Amino acid sequence: MAVKINAIRGMNDLFPPNSSVWQQVEQVLKATLSSYGFSEIRFPVVEKTGLFCRAIGEVTDVVEKEMYTFEDRDGDSLSLRPEGTAGCVRACLENSLIYNQEQRLWYMGPMFRHERPQKGRYRQFHQFGCEVFGLNGPDIDAELIAITAAIWQKLGLTDYVKLELNSLGSKEERAQYRDALVAFLEEHKDVLDDDCKRRMYTNPLRVLDTKNERIIEVLKDAPKLSGYFKEETINHFNKLKLYLDSLGIKYTINERLVRGLDYYNLTVFEWVTTSLGAQGTVCGGGRYDGLVEQLGGQETPAIGFAIGLERLILLLESLALVKPSSAVDVMVCYQGENTDVFALKVADSLRSKFPSIKIMTHCGGGKFKKQIAHADKVNAQFALIIGEQEVQNEMVTVKNLATGDQQTLDLVTLVAYLNNNFSK
Ligand code: ATP
Ligand code: MG
Repeated sequence: MAVKINAIRGMNDLFPPNSSVWQQVEQVLKATLSSYGFSEIRFPVVEKTGLFCRAIGEVTDVVEKEMYTFEDRDGDSLSLRPEGTAGCVRACLENSLIYNQEQRLWYMGPMFRHERPQKGRYRQFHQFGCEVFGLNGPDIDAELIAITAAIWQKLGLTDYVKLELNSLGSKEERAQYRDALVAFLEEHKDVLDDDCKRRMYTNPLRVLDTKNERIIEVLKDAPKLSGYFKEETINHFNKLKLYLDSLGIKYTINERLVRGLDYYNLTVFEWVTTSLGAQGTVCGGGRYDGLVEQLGGQETPAIGFAIGLERLILLLESLALVKPSSAVDVMVCYQGENTDVFALKVADSLRSKFPSIKIMTHCGGGKFKKQIAHADKVNAQFALIIGEQEVQNEMVTVKNLATGDQQTLDLVTLVAYLNNNFSK
């Protein structure tokens, strides 16, 4: 036998019955975004490497260490998208969707990062994200957070996730703060680990994001970015908090929350859970007012978030808040002379009458006993049994697989029977 070729480490297959859980969750996400007036955008999985370097920032973990970058056959440097915002902005600029208009968009799809695979951290993972262009906030900032809160509510997660909120101020405020922070970090250089030492000059705010407990302790005395805020930033943040309060959305201010990518300003937020171990951030987002201009467009306010679908689904599964749905409601079984033609026709006419009932034709022959066992195996609720007698009388025997009850009905009564049992 030939040697089997396996998947790439950290890139997972998704198959039944788990794919039905993903479909249920995706359905909730799409319906929620649609109820807030958002529309879907699709853009490629591969872009020119320069797009991500410029958008995300050269000295971020994602660009420095995690991107899948390769030369294509024409010698161009391309990368698999590590996140959605850069591609979304590129697509909107290229298709004139931003200038002089606003956009409220969502996207869903695979992202790629070369990280060490572990629970909740993969090399191909999936994000559901949304981006808004042309609105300064803070009303839209609050509404974006409200969308995420509505999603948790619908999924039953409200008690298991916590909103962390921060403001990163303006570029000028961050520049001033940066000097003070670097001065502080220089004084405490001896406690910093290699990562923090490296970031101290390239991207000092990221030091605040460290997971190293000892450094966190020292950082408690570090100057705070909020100390550099001027009126505009303070007003934006206060108004946002007021909106959240009035919407009944609880949050904690986390002044160390800086987010991993370079493009954020003002509002940033994360939804975290303690139920997933170290990979506790289920959703991250924030405002990125400078990015559109940075990518060659006009100055445009923008804000977005992304939900990590693997983490969301792991969380839902660990709390038993989702279960796979059965692929089949009704199994059509047939055995005997001329039963095949009648069975296929009955199955098809029922499907067109009941588009939402999942009707499988057994196919492949065999005794009724084996066919009913098949129906049980796929968790069908009913079997339709069609033998020679049924064909002769133009009737169908319905078996309720949970109770074992069965009755033989003409086709009109069968329709009424299914109508009764499936109209919830
Ligand atoms: P982390 O700090 O966990 O590495 P991040 O800041 O790199 O997260 P973002 O770039 O903000 O993540 O992406 C948004 C969301 O996508 C994260 O909150 C997380 O739920 C999910 N995510 C990010 N990287 C991965 C990954 N490698 N595998 C699975 N999910 C991921
Ligand atoms: Mg990361």
